[in-house]
Amino acid sequence: MANDPNAKIAKYSFYQNVEMYFDKAAVFTKLPKGLLEQIKVCNSVYTMHFPVKMGNEYQVIEAYRAQHSHHRMPTKGGIRYSIHVNQDEVMALAALMTYKCAIVDVPFGGAKGGIKISPRNTTAKQLERITRRYTVELIKKNFIGPGIDVPAPDYGTGEREMAWILDTYMSYHPGQIDGYGCVTGKPVSQGGIRGRTEATGRGVMFGLREIVSYKDDMKAIGMTVGLKDKTVVIQGLGNVGYYAAKFMEEEGCKIIAIAELEGAIHDPNGLDVMKLVKHRKETGSILNFPGATNIAISAAALELECDILIPAALENQITEENASRIKAKIIAEAANGPVTPMGEEILLEKGCLIIPDMYLNAGGVTVSYFEWLKNLSHVRFGRMQKRADESTYNNIISTVERLTGRQLGEKERGMITRGADEIDIVNSGLEETMIEAYRQIREVAKKHKDMKSMRTAAFVVAIQKISESYMAMGIFP
Ligand code: NAD
Repeated sequence: MANDPNAKIAKYSFYQNVEMYFDKAAVFTKLPKGLLEQIKVCNSVYTMHFPVKMGNEYQVIEAYRAQHSHHRMPTKGGIRYSIHVNQDEVMALAALMTYKCAIVDVPFGGAKGGIKISPRNTTAKQLERITRRYTVELIKKNFIGPGIDVPAPDYGTGEREMAWILDTYMSYHPGQIDGYGCVTGKPVSQGGIRGRTEATGRGVMFGLREIVSYKDDMKAIGMTVGLKDKTVVIQGLGNVGYYAAKFMEEEGCKIIAIAELEGAIHDPNGLDVMKLVKHRKETGSILNFPGATNIAISAAALELECDILIPAALENQITEENASRIKAKIIAEAANGPVTPMGEEILLEKGCLIIPDMYLNAGGVTVSYFEWLKNLSHVRFGRMQKRADESTYNNIISTVERLTGRQLGEKERGMITRGADEIDIVNSGLEETMIEAYRQIREVAKKHKDMKSMRTAAFVVAIQKISESYMAMGIFP
């Protein structure tokens, strides 16, 4: 099937790929076999078939929700709308969510949902009907709730779908005080949080900025430190790809190519991402962007010479079939599962640094966690302390001015004494999370000289943290 991410898999499914990555890391942990098996296994999967009226007839919709791990509750993970959704994919994505949450210290188990539909070929009204009915199915089986399982956006979904889910959930739970925490990625007017929409892409940038700041690590792959002037190729100009491109551009990177479903475009001098988005809105395609060259076969863009390749579309994009032709020094997995284990082997042999999905795209779930906290606390971040902080800073500045006899200008004073708004607190929390998580992964990688991949180090960090939950419960002494 055209563009089916699974069509390229020769031998193993997405879920098997995740299991293979897990097994590779498990040997480094020296944990008991039973405990490793419990961490790895997918706890529950709910498969649904429900009728929805589409036009004059009813269509049977196939949908899923997988909860990979209940070691922490609620479980958490996005909902994907794609014609390629299947049980294996949802289970793989749910498993990645468990490890992702552990890596960034988000106290949730992993989950994922999916509806097998093409959002492009479905009207907004039909999408609303399907989303609401899917939510009812989750409610009926107790698969959704602020303390049970909390969905979020993923491929093919966004704020709008999350607002429908919230509205449906609240209709069935009137008066539930914490009900708004049943889903994240909502519009701000519906209990969402500022910064969630762009969080995954911003997290990709924060992660990369930290990774390229280590001189020795960069020297090992023939790169200089810093993001400035680095050449970047991005696959997928959706939520994650667009914001990753925008923030990387703001850091001084040159986005030299972008690949989409309709083809790819290339400009060695760097594309203007905002202008490209405008062009796509006007023409319906990224192709024929002024100054850029069209590349007819979209996947060929992945093989361009560049410093950083960011796959931000779907899984199984870099496999044993094309890995040997990839020239990027760093592959930054903004999508989930873009590199298969066999593809990874080839890339590692070539000395490529692969930054794993379960770390690099964790910005989305991190800010979803902040949104959930906001919903449970019923107060906007910054509301209680912003003015108090400003008053303290003003007092400090006034004292310094009095002691030094020097006066600050109004603009300068305003900048220094400004208290933090919600967006400042969210972005600061996200930056701290991405930096701290990378330091933990790097420490493990440095400790094991025989550990070839950063993914293995990330898995070890995740497995260790999850194992501690089970051990603390005395289940696996
Ligand atoms: P999206 O639907 O907003 O965008 C995906 C884009 O990729 C679309 O524009 C689509 O046309 C394009 N695309 C699909 N197949 C392609 C191909 N073969 N070549 C080039 N372009 C292609 O989805 P998204 O939310 O940006 O998610 C992208 C990836 O990031 C997924 O793997 C998802 O699981 C992962 N992710 C998303 C989030 C989030 O917060 N949205 C968080 C973590 C991880």
